[in-house]
Amino acid sequence: MDEALKAGKISAVANVILTVLKIAAGVLINSTALIADGIHSFVDVLGSLLVWLGIRIASKPADPSHPYGHFKAESLAEMSVGLIIILSSLLILHEATLSLINGSVPAFEMYAILVALFSALVNEILARYKIRIGLDTRSSSLIAEGKHSRVDVLSSLSVVAGLILVYLGYWWADAVVAMAISVFIFQIGAGILKNSLDVLMDRVDEEVIVKVMSVMDKIEGVESVEFVATRGTWKSKVVEVHFTVNPGMDAETIDAIEREIVDEIKGRIPGVVDVVAVVKVSRPRVLAIPVDEDGNFTRELDSPQFMIVSLESGEKKIVKNEHHKAEKRKGYLISECLEKHGVSIVAVRKVGEGAKAHLRSRGIVVKLIDSNLKDVEDIIKSFQRS
Ligand SMILES: [Zn+2]
Repeated sequence: MDEALKAGKISAVANVILTVLKIAAGVLINSTALIADGIHSFVDVLGSLLVWLGIRIASKPADPSHPYGHFKAESLAEMSVGLIIILSSLLILHEATLSLINGSVPAFEMYAILVALFSALVNEILARYKIRIGLDTRSSSLIAEGKHSRVDVLSSLSVVAGLILVYLGYWWADAVVAMAISVFIFQIGAGILKNSLDVLMDRVDEEVIVKVMSVMDKIEGVESVEFVATRGTWKSKVVEVHFTVNPGMDAETIDAIEREIVDEIKGRIPGVVDVVAVVKVSRPRVLAIPVDEDGNFTRELDSPQFMIVSLESGEKKIVKNEHHKAEKRKGYLISECLEKHGVSIVAVRKVGEGAKAHLRSRGIVVKLIDSNLKDVEDIIKSFQRS
């Protein structure tokens, strides 16, 4: 990592020197392309500065007022830099269009050509250096940086080509090269902007999600995974995963599973700095059917008794509804009674909104039954199929 940071610093210093040389020479000979190439180098300095700043800010630990860490500060800086870069590319495009309209021609000076050639040479050296260090330190971002420097070589060489073409009489060549460079700059800005927006909007990293699912698959005791999300930057990601375990599992086992999940995800997926694992106990499916004294379906919650069926085992029992004649808070009292019997689903044909809300607050789901289902056994079967 130290070596990678050093490469970034060297690259930034070289680009600052090139920025000054190219903009000065560009202004002196009135070459829009050379000025544009100078701005390009400056934009690259901003980019390297961001990487450096990002590593520093994102590594600042979470504190009580920023419990999720500080990684978004980096993205906010990135977003503003992205916008500045896009604006500068539009400015160059505007200048180049003006020089085409006005037919302005840059002066042909040897020193300007030498400045552009020097820039191409420096960038080629930087490209080779960064790619070599990138391969050594297995840093894909540094290799990408190195390839970017190759684009910078092309940018400066096209300035030289443009100036030579102008010398040969193609007066418009300099402005056209400037336009091409503005497209390069625009692309850099758009890339930085997109990256920052992805982080700020908590865009999910699909690749990480797939890896998390395959890790979860192999962990014993996890019944199902209900939710996976990622947030953060490519170098520091937080994974959130919600999973269910079988009811009756003791707290120690659940704790061990949770720890295994955190360790496995952190250990196997690069860039993950934190894992939030949320456990849910999947409830057994217990169905309550309102019935009358003869055991017939009464369609409504307010019935003399309930048939309570464990859908997993098929075990049945009849429970008397003590609140059948209650005058007040009937929905509340019946919900309380059903919860006591471990009911998770109630089958009715219709239900009042109040009673439905009481049931839901106790984790009991109301299922409305089709009017052609009248027989209690048929109702039970319809639940066992689903
Ligand atoms: Zn560049």
